[in-house]
Amino acid sequence: TAAAPYRGRFAPSPTGLLHAGSLVAALASWLDARAHGGQWLVRIEDHDQGRCVPGADAAILGQLQALSLVPDEPPVWQSRREPLYAAALQRLIDGGWAYGCDCTRKSIAEALAAREMERPRHGELVYPGTCRHRHLPAAQARAWRLLSTADRAGWQDLTLDWQDRRLGPQWQNLTQAVGDFVLRRADGLWAYQLCVVVDDAAQGITDVVRGEDLADNTPRQIRLQQLLDLPQPRYLHSPLVRGANGEKLSKQNGAQALDLADPLAALRSAGAVLGLPPLPGERPGDWLAAAVAAWAARSGGPSLMA
Ligand code: GLU
Repeated sequence: TAAAPYRGRFAPSPTGLLHAGSLVAALASWLDARAHGGQWLVRIEDHDQGRCVPGADAAILGQLQALSLVPDEPPVWQSRREPLYAAALQRLIDGGWAYGCDCTRKSIAEALAAREMERPRHGELVYPGTCRHRHLPAAQARAWRLLSTADRAGWQDLTLDWQDRRLGPQWQNLTQAVGDFVLRRADGLWAYQLCVVVDDAAQGITDVVRGEDLADNTPRQIRLQQLLDLPQPRYLHSPLVRGANGEKLSKQNGAQALDLADPLAALRSAGAVLGLPPLPGERPGDWLAAAVAAWAARSGGPSLMA
């Protein structure tokens, strides 16, 4: 069968303006799409309205425009796509892979303390599985969780292997490292993992290119793709920009919004993080054309980039 035509995306959360770190992810996804002669889409990930800053979506789209990173289709907003997430959750429930949970943070912490379980490296609590076999009726469910085991009975650990185009072969024991993760929170909020999988499939995304901080979410997303019968995209996780303290640059640790008085300088710095050599170009469009050629030349090899 012919490979599906390349479709990539940039999926910013509108919790603030783009900064030097988020530009690296945006540029990597744009370059990879262009180097493959593919399409590049933008999806506003505003499923968590409580964390969104009013107007940040329009501001981000304006920043991308100033950088000459223009999507090939009108952007989509997750907040307008809830019926898709509800349908996916229902399918997982019907298939016996998702279950209702009425635990609170406190009851989970107590259950974990009783079992002296460890916190995994990403610092989230691994759910102790309290509601896994309770078969709570929907009316009593506060949250909905996915069974992280290989079997519906909940006994066998599931280890997933995947290939990252930059990081190489990866694996994770989903059951031990993550556990039964939330698909819909008690406050009704749709979890990022479910939204991203549903949307990537609905938008025909063949290649996910995003920051390396998201790499360890990939097995959760692959598992959801498997259970929902959705195609698995290729993955490429781009390098992070670190702040003075060595931590990943983020809105939470005070990253400055991009200075778009000089878009070319912003693009050049992001290109350097991606390992591109200094390239000619007096204007963003010229520099981007040279960057696509450099990216395509490098992407010819087996390890693809950086
Ligand atoms: N919305 C996520 C973020 O801004 C990115 C999700 C993704 O690319 O899968 O961190």
